[in-house]
Amino acid sequence: MGNQPLKLAKYSIGTGDRFAHQAKAQLQACLRALAHGVEIVPVWNKSNREHTIIGSDPMSARQSADAAVKELGWKLPYFVDADHIGVQTVGRFLDACDFYTIDVADFIGQTATQEQIDAFVGAHKNLAGRVQLPGVDEIFTLSESDLRQSAGKFLAAVKIAGEVYRKIETSKGKGNFVPEISMDETDRAQTPAELLVILAAIADEDIPVQTIAPKFSGRFNKGVDYVGDVAQFEREFVLDVAAIAYGVRHFGLPANLKLSVHSGSDKFSIYPAIHRTIRRFDAGVHLKTAGTTWLEELIGLAEAGGEGLALAKEIYAEAFAHREELCKPYATVIDIDAARLPSPDEVRGWSSEQYTSALRHDLRAKAYNSSLRQLLHVGFKVAAKMGRRYVDLLDKNEAVIARNVTGNLYDRHIVPVFLGDAADSAKAQ
Ligand SMILES: [Zn+2]
Repeated sequence: MGNQPLKLAKYSIGTGDRFAHQAKAQLQACLRALAHGVEIVPVWNKSNREHTIIGSDPMSARQSADAAVKELGWKLPYFVDADHIGVQTVGRFLDACDFYTIDVADFIGQTATQEQIDAFVGAHKNLAGRVQLPGVDEIFTLSESDLRQSAGKFLAAVKIAGEVYRKIETSKGKGNFVPEISMDETDRAQTPAELLVILAAIADEDIPVQTIAPKFSGRFNKGVDYVGDVAQFEREFVLDVAAIAYGVRHFGLPANLKLSVHSGSDKFSIYPAIHRTIRRFDAGVHLKTAGTTWLEELIGLAEAGGEGLALAKEIYAEAFAHREELCKPYATVIDIDAARLPSPDEVRGWSSEQYTSALRHDLRAKAYNSSLRQLLHVGFKVAAKMGRRYVDLLDKNEAVIARNVTGNLYDRHIVPVFLGDAADSAKAQ
């Protein structure tokens, strides 16, 4: 490997590609941004759970990313992300990936030892008292007991992140991958003051973290818009960005450290707030949009009509029939109103236009149905079971699907978050 450590650029976008067919169409969206003068580095992410459901291997994500980059002549860096891995699951990702989302959310609240807490508080006496973050007026006041409490809550989780980090480092070598630490898959949001404690602990653990994904307040349901107080989100987001700037300056964390927003896809109403904040602080951001590319495949198939539309209807019928089992693993991140789900019989009579307008995430469209969208979002297992039948139709309808994949990523995500021009029109109503 080279001598320069791998560094993630200021702006990056994490995209999911469940069936490993849309890397080129996704990369086209980054090329479109580049044509507007904005460099956004693509990161293809896939979790262990996703690989298990689809029956795919991390190397397939690497191969499709490499092929897309080669074919389109992409000259900037790009990454393949082992998404939400832990010490048990990281092994199979070691060859294929150069970005690791180390998930330690499950260990939050696991008690650290008294010695560990004492050592932490002793090393970070400057955090007890008044802390002025750069670029904001608010001053945090953390008492020593606040500091002890936060340390008690997060130290054990950060120590586990250190274990996972070192396991990857031993295999790949220092500087040959981008480490992210995620704590988003938990019930309670972390406050900016807690983020400060977490960052100090990460620095103590000697993890050169480049992105961090806290849990923000509000609901981040899969594939649909943000539910929560957007103004409060913005206040917290601003303080989180300021906490990171403080951590870089005072804890010696990497200068390119930035927030990673695990959006669960399509959090349109907070995009303008993210955009304003990164502009205000001249900060970077990593936006993970996860899995709605699979829904764009369905939209493309439905738009194509004929056997494409027929298959899209069949997938809905299957997802409807198995809705309980499909929704179960996602229960905490979906809100489906069963009364709003059309019957498979009704959907069987739909035109291309009726299917796509119910599914497409256009908040201004009357026919948009967020319950149907969420059910199909978690229904990718149905398509995975169809195997070649599904994948062959993706190949056959490549052009219409690619147009939807690229347009969705560029117009609805990249423009409002990174470019800003169309932020207002992309906002909810
Ligand atoms: Zn996440």
